[in-house]
Amino acid sequence: MERTTCCVVGGGPAGMVLGLLLARAGVAVTVLEKHGDFLRDFRGDTVHPSTLRLLDDLGLADRFAALPQRHVHSVQLPIGRDGELFTVGEIGSLPGKYNYVAMVPQWDLLDLLADEAQREPTFQLRMNTEVTSFLMERGRVTGVRYRDRASGSAGELRATLTVACDGRGSLARALPELGLREFPCPMDVWWFRLPRQESDPQGLVGNAGERFLTAMIDRGDYWQCAALIPKGSDATCRAGGLDRFLASFTEATPWMGLGTRLGPEESGRGPRPRSWDEVKLLDVRMDRLRRWHRPGLLCIGDAAHAMSPVFGIGINLAVQDAVAAARHLVRPLREGTVGLADVRAVQRRRWPTAAATQRLQRIAHARVIAPLLEGRSPAAGGEPLRLAVLLTRAPWLKRAPAYFLAYGAGRERPPAESLRRSG
Ligand SMILES: Cc1cc2nc3c(=O)[nH]c(=O)nc-3n(C[C@H](O)[C@H](O)[C@H](O)COP(=O)(O)OP(=O)(O)OC[C@H]3O[C@@H](n4cnc5c(N)ncnc54)[C@H](O)[C@@H]3O)c2cc1C
Repeated sequence: MERTTCCVVGGGPAGMVLGLLLARAGVAVTVLEKHGDFLRDFRGDTVHPSTLRLLDDLGLADRFAALPQRHVHSVQLPIGRDGELFTVGEIGSLPGKYNYVAMVPQWDLLDLLADEAQREPTFQLRMNTEVTSFLMERGRVTGVRYRDRASGSAGELRATLTVACDGRGSLARALPELGLREFPCPMDVWWFRLPRQESDPQGLVGNAGERFLTAMIDRGDYWQCAALIPKGSDATCRAGGLDRFLASFTEATPWMGLGTRLGPEESGRGPRPRSWDEVKLLDVRMDRLRRWHRPGLLCIGDAAHAMSPVFGIGINLAVQDAVAAARHLVRPLREGTVGLADVRAVQRRRWPTAAATQRLQRIAHARVIAPLLEGRSPAAGGEPLRLAVLLTRAPWLKRAPAYFLAYGAGRERPPAESLRRSG
């Protein structure tokens, strides 16, 4: 029978950070990830100041700095009349050297974390390993059943504690006692690539088009583009034709220049979508478990609270959940005393931040995104505009949203046992 102290289900930001912190502290930890690599496209690329400081604390700042990246110092939203952009987060005005969001493809960050964790003798990462169910004994989760996707073989891994970091489709959501609360979202996302030119802006660029909003992530040679479309409108929007959509997308981003970038003379170059198959639909969901734990099990990250892409802070929350979980769990896991009180403490610590962030995302959905997607000006409601103007006028007020974007409600500190410098 295979056994570990902590079984982490899912190697996303939450799972890899938790795995690294526990392994650094000498806890036997096995991370099971269903994919064979981290190369999934539909992931956010944002690494926030809280994560940058964590990497620094762990002695990984230099390795992280060597990754290709762009820095974003402020966040703008199209919340003025006619989609006028307002700066709502001057991250660059925050004190300290990490006063920016680093845009790094998430697979590079996860590779770095995995590589670092694998130096620890107590760490195991099993790729291509899909967890299929929990092992239960007398109401307690005692590990997982898994399937090796490469060989097709199945197995069981017993663990003192199982931590579900398997994102918004988490297996834990099938456990009715955890109680899933869902919130409506007004949008879905189309995800595709466009060619990038040297003279283009850098970092993260957003804008508003006719009944869609755009966010473009600079990935060096190309733009990873997101277009927010009204929820459930995928089929109707596609019926309008790809060329028409791309034309209105570039109209909303005039610096792109439709003719030069997407015109027929350019048809042989660049990663522009040539059919709807290259425009992926991402279903946006927002929900939260009422209870993040049961005996033998803890849920963190999107598994506990699936985040909307609004504000681009889901990764930050997932990482901070993992840091808080490690801080509460290292000692009881090492001493073999981990119990319900320990996992409860993690939820108590992290629930207010997750709930407050989702509350703000719901306000942004209702007051900004839904009106824009319906072709109404969000300023019609008055409040977002007044708030935005207030934020741009009072420098001390600008700091509040910037701090929130950078650190969430507050920065979690890793356990001292995990701080050993990278060798
Ligand atoms: C369209 C969109 C854009 C977004 N953009 C941003 C952004 O720019 N910035 C930002 O901060 N946030 C963004 N978010 C939110 C962000 O993606 C999530 O909040 C964050 O990824 C959560 O991290 P996680 O580790 O909890 O889960 P995930 O990143 O979802 O990781 C879960 C991992 O578990 C694995 N897994 C799943 N099931 C199993 C299983 N049964 N067995 C084994 N492994 C399993 C998955 O393969 C995956 O690797 C966006 C969300 C959406 C929908």
